[in-house]
Amino acid sequence: MANNNSSSNPTLAAYKKAVELLGMKLNIAKALEMPDRELTVEVPFKMDNGDVNSVVGYRVQHNNTRGPFKGGIRYHQHVDIEEVRALATLMTWKTSLVDIPYGGGKGGIAIDPSNYSKNELERISRKFFRAIDPIVGPNVDIPAPDVNTNAQVMSWFMDEYSQRHGYTPAIVTGKPVELGGSLGREEATGRGTAIITKEAADKWNIDLNKSEVVIQGFGNVGSYAAKFLNEYGCKIIAVSDVSGGLYDPNGLDINNLFDHNKKHRTIDGFGGGKKITNEELLALKCDFLIPAALGSAINSSNVNSINCKVIVEAANGPVTGEAADKLWKRKIAIIPDILTNAGGVTVSYFEWVQNLQQFKWTKQDVNKKLQEKMINAFNEVYAVKIEKKVPMRIASFMVAIDRVQQSYILREG
Ligand code: GLU
Repeated sequence: MANNNSSSNPTLAAYKKAVELLGMKLNIAKALEMPDRELTVEVPFKMDNGDVNSVVGYRVQHNNTRGPFKGGIRYHQHVDIEEVRALATLMTWKTSLVDIPYGGGKGGIAIDPSNYSKNELERISRKFFRAIDPIVGPNVDIPAPDVNTNAQVMSWFMDEYSQRHGYTPAIVTGKPVELGGSLGREEATGRGTAIITKEAADKWNIDLNKSEVVIQGFGNVGSYAAKFLNEYGCKIIAVSDVSGGLYDPNGLDINNLFDHNKKHRTIDGFGGGKKITNEELLALKCDFLIPAALGSAINSSNVNSINCKVIVEAANGPVTGEAADKLWKRKIAIIPDILTNAGGVTVSYFEWVQNLQQFKWTKQDVNKKLQEKMINAFNEVYAVKIEKKVPMRIASFMVAIDRVQQSYILREG
C-alpha cells in the first residue's frame, strides 16, 4: 500500500469522500490530512560476524488532537515513508472510531527480519528505539507491535526506554504479561475481527453457524480470528500464509492447525486440507473473505475473481481503492480495517491504562470491555451507513473524522 495516489490508496479516497459528505471546511480537512511530524533515522548495528551494518527506520506521527500518537512498528522489506505515513493516518481514524484517547502514529524498519539472527534483531530494535527516543514518551507517542514485531521486540523497546528514563512500562503496548502486558492483548485483534464478523453476519442476514469463511494470512491476527470464528460455529474452509493455502470444503480442523502453526510458525506441513495458491484462495466462493496479511492483497488484477458476500479487512489496507469501487458495484460489502482490526489498539489502550494505574485487570474485564467497544463502534458506523446510504468504509471515516474534527476545533479554534 505504498501509494499515496487516491485511486489506489483506500485511505485517501475514503478521506476525501467523508470530508465532502461531512461538509467539512477545507482548511480543517487539509490540516487533519497532513502528518504532524515525520522522522527518518539511520539505524547502525553490529552483525554477528562483527561487521557494522546500517538500516533505515521511520516514525510518522500523524495527529495527536485526541491524545498521544499511537500505533505499531513493523519490520518488512517493503517499508518506506509513504507506507508508514498512510498507516499512521489510518491509526488516527482507528483510535477515533473506537473512541479511545489517542491520536495516530506508525513506525517501521525496512528489513526482512528472516535475514537476521535474534541477537541482530535485538541490536537493531534497541538502536532504532534509541534513535526515535527524542519523540516518544508514555504521554507523547506509544508504539506497539505490527507486522513481524511481537511481545519480545516490545520488551527490548521497553527496556531500552526504561534504562534512560526510569521504569516506564507505559512507553509501549503489546508487551509480555510478565512485563506489564495486558491479559487478552495477544489475541485482541483476532478476537475483535471475530466480533465484527459476527455483527456483520447479523446485518447482512448470514447465519453464522452455516457460514463459510476464507482467511488469507495466518499470523497473529488471522490465526486468532480463525480460532474465535471456529468457536462461533463458522466453517473455515481455507487459510493461507507465505507458504501457500490449505483448502477443505468440509472445514479445516482449526484447533489442530492453530497448534501446528504456533509450534512451527507456518501452516506448511499440516496434515489436513488440499494445497492451493493464494490466488485460488482469494477466488473461493464463501460468505466471509478475511484478508489478514499485507496491504493491497485485493487489487485491480484479482478483484474480478472475488466470490464472497462480505470482505472483512483484518489487515491494514488490504483492498485498494479501485478494487473497493468495483466491489461496491457488485454489492460485495467491505467491513473496513479501521473498524475490523481496532481490537488490537483497543486492548493496547487497556494495557496502557493498567500500566499508568499500576493495577491489573482480569481477562474477563478486558474481553468484556473490548466487546463493548467493538459493538458500539460497529453500530455507530452502521447507523451512518444506513442514513447516508454509503459503504461501511465511508461511514467509518465519517464517524472517525468528525470526532477528530470536533476536538481539533475546540483546541485550535
Ligand atoms: N499495529 C496494530 C494496528 O495496526 C496495533 C496498534 C497498537 O496497538 O497501538 O492497529
